[in-house]
Amino acid sequence: MLTETLARRDIRKLSLEELKEFFIAKGEKAFRAQQVYEWLWMKSAKSFEQMTNISLSTREMLKEHFVINHIKVDNMQRSADGTIKNAVTLFDGLVVESVLIPTEKRITACVSSQVGCSLACKFCATARLKRQRNLSPDEIYDQVAAIKEQADLFFGRPLTNIVFMGMGEPLLNYANVTAAIEKITHQKGLGMAAKRITVSTVGIAKMIKKMADDEVKFNLAVSLHSALDQTRSSIMPINDSNSLAELADALRYWYQKTKKKVTYEYVVWKDINDSEEAANALLKFCKVIPSKVNLIEYNPIDDGEFKQASDEVLNMYMDLLERNGITTRIRKSRGKDIDAACGQLANKT
Ligand code: SAH
Repeated sequence: MLTETLARRDIRKLSLEELKEFFIAKGEKAFRAQQVYEWLWMKSAKSFEQMTNISLSTREMLKEHFVINHIKVDNMQRSADGTIKNAVTLFDGLVVESVLIPTEKRITACVSSQVGCSLACKFCATARLKRQRNLSPDEIYDQVAAIKEQADLFFGRPLTNIVFMGMGEPLLNYANVTAAIEKITHQKGLGMAAKRITVSTVGIAKMIKKMADDEVKFNLAVSLHSALDQTRSSIMPINDSNSLAELADALRYWYQKTKKKVTYEYVVWKDINDSEEAANALLKFCKVIPSKVNLIEYNPIDDGEFKQASDEVLNMYMDLLERNGITTRIRKSRGKDIDAACGQLANKT
C-alpha cells in the first residue's frame, strides 16, 4: 500500500501549466486542469471524490496517477483564552504543530516551516527536537487553510494574519516557504495580502539579503534577544557563525532594497539580558534600520535555567526604547495552558 502511494505523484507538485499538459496528453480538455487546480488550492480539496464537477471517470484516472498528500489535523486543543493548537500529521507520519491565535481585531495563524529545528536556541522547546525535514509548500499552505477553516467555524471571522513562528527556521527552508506564500497570496489560492504575513527568523544574514534581492512583499521579524555578541552567542549558537555585525549589514541591505521596517522579538531574562547595558545595546541596534520591538513574555520550558525578568526591568526597556522613538510592545503569551505559546511547540501530545 505504501509503495503504491509513493509510486503515484503528488498532484500538488505540478504547476497549472504542467497539469494542463497532463490533461491534454490524456486527451482531455485543458480547462479541466483549471478546475482541478482550483479544487486543489482555492478549495483545499482533500480527496478526488470531493471534485464533484469533474466526471467520475476523470477522477478515477487522476487517482491512478496522483495522490493528494493533505495534512491531517488530528489533535486539536483549545486554550482557556481561545487559542487553538493543532497537531498536524504529515503524509509520512511526522507531526508538526500550528496555532490559531484570536484577539479582538485579528485572527492569526502561527505555522511551522520544518519538522523539528536545527538551531539549538537554548530557551526554545522546539530546539530539543532534532530537525527531521523541511515542510513542502503544500504542507505549509495546508496549515494556513486549516486555520482559516477553524477561524470561520469557531469564531465566524476571517483569518487576518499569518506568522511563520511555529516550529523550524523558515529561512532554512526558504524556497518552500516562499512557494507556499506565493500560493497563499494568489487569487487562485487563499487570496491573503502579503503585508499580513510575517516571516520570523533567527537572523541568517545571507538569507535576509536573498529576501531583499527577491523584493519580497511580506514582513520580516528577527528573533534578536540580545544585541551583545557574547550574550547572544551564549543563548543562540547561530550567532557564532552569524554575528550581530553581519546581521546589521544584512538588515541595512534589506531596508535599502525593500524600504520595510523590521520587528525584533526580544525576551528579557533575569541575569541574562536584564542590565542597562543590554538595553542600551538593543537601542543602538534598533537604530541600524527603522524597527519595532516586541518584548515577548518568556514561556518556561524546563528546569528554570531561564527566568522572565521582573516587570521593573521590562519597564526600564520599554521607557528607554519609547523615549528614543522606537515603537515597543509587550506581548503577553497566549495558549500557555496547552503549550501553544512561543517556544513551547514540541509535539508533547
Ligand atoms: N526560527 C524562527 C521562528 C520560530 S520561534 C525564529 O527564531 O524566529 C518564534 C519566536 O518564539 C522566536 O522569536 C523565538 O525566539 C521565540 N521563542 C522561542 N522560545 C521561546 C520561549 N520559551 N518563550 C518565549 N519565546 C520564545
